[in-house]
Amino acid sequence: MNRRTETKSLDTGQLTAHPHPDLVELNWGVFYLYHANTISGTTSVKLVSKPNPPASSIFSTKLTHSELSQNMSSHKANAGLFFLANFLLMTDSLIGIGQSQENTHITNELLNGTVWVQTALEHDILCRQAYQLADIRLQQALEDERWTAAIEQTANFEKLPPAVILDVDETVLDNSPFQARLVSENVEFTTEKWITWCKESQAEAMPGATRFIKQVSQKNIALFFVTNRDASVKDATIANLSRALDMPVAPEQVLCKNEKPEWKSSKTARRKYIAQTHRIVLLLGDDFNDFTYIGKVSTRQRVKKGEPYSQYFGTKWIQLPNPLYGNWEKSIYGFNYSTLRDEKLKLKYELLETKQQEQNKTGRD
Ligand SMILES: [Mg+2]
Repeated sequence: MNRRTETKSLDTGQLTAHPHPDLVELNWGVFYLYHANTISGTTSVKLVSKPNPPASSIFSTKLTHSELSQNMSSHKANAGLFFLANFLLMTDSLIGIGQSQENTHITNELLNGTVWVQTALEHDILCRQAYQLADIRLQQALEDERWTAAIEQTANFEKLPPAVILDVDETVLDNSPFQARLVSENVEFTTEKWITWCKESQAEAMPGATRFIKQVSQKNIALFFVTNRDASVKDATIANLSRALDMPVAPEQVLCKNEKPEWKSSKTARRKYIAQTHRIVLLLGDDFNDFTYIGKVSTRQRVKKGEPYSQYFGTKWIQLPNPLYGNWEKSIYGFNYSTLRDEKLKLKYELLETKQQEQNKTGRD
């Protein structure tokens, strides 16, 4: 397959911002700004010529991983930057491939997951199923004073009042509109955007969450929300929980990250804190970190480290689905939060298991 990538040099006078944010205009045509990166004042961009409408054709699923990564590794993205000294022009041979294949799209990695969360009956069922299972396990837990869901809780807990601990995001609150914004604007997650979303207090409750939480509350079982939202958005989070759950939530029920010096990303210290006064009967979360801390380890190590806890799955630890983000994804890029979008994509391609013959596989160790 004939495919060329051409490197050319421009001065900034040859480039004009286009009214559409995904497009740039050169003096010989309009191009998609595929991605751009500025290093030491010089911006490199990848452009694709535009016979097609926005959101189509520059990314071909027929591109191999190595071809993709070759370009991406040397030219990182920051779409929207128009001051450049040189650029990569993906030539007609690539465009031709894009037009000739069925599966050719500009896509966003969050698109499928976000649409699934927002529309799929199956997502709804999984959430409700989790909370219905929690009903059953809660009843069992209440009848067995030896039952504790927290591995941090090791002794003298039998007579303590019971408590349920829930994570917040994608466990109680559905932040898929925030993800939908990232997709629709084709921008990366930033803490600033996340904080803005949190302060809006707009998230609705996950399917099944309100019913379960109200029921727990009516039984006078303590409820704690242990979240890695930063303490700076605690008030907004309380307001959001109260509105979405249609019940008052008190400040002492919400334990945010950094609220105390020892309350870090690991939730262990917060579970220990609650375990001093309560028998923790259930943990509900969408991330394994909501149950126990297994460190910043690789994807494969995560699976291994989870195995010893299998007796907790579906009994004392209730897992909700989250295809959008989480430590499962962070582990793919080594918890390096500055990893660029293209590099993340490359790493995900490397993890694909195709069951092809060994000689045809790429990027597997
Ligand atoms: Mg969560």
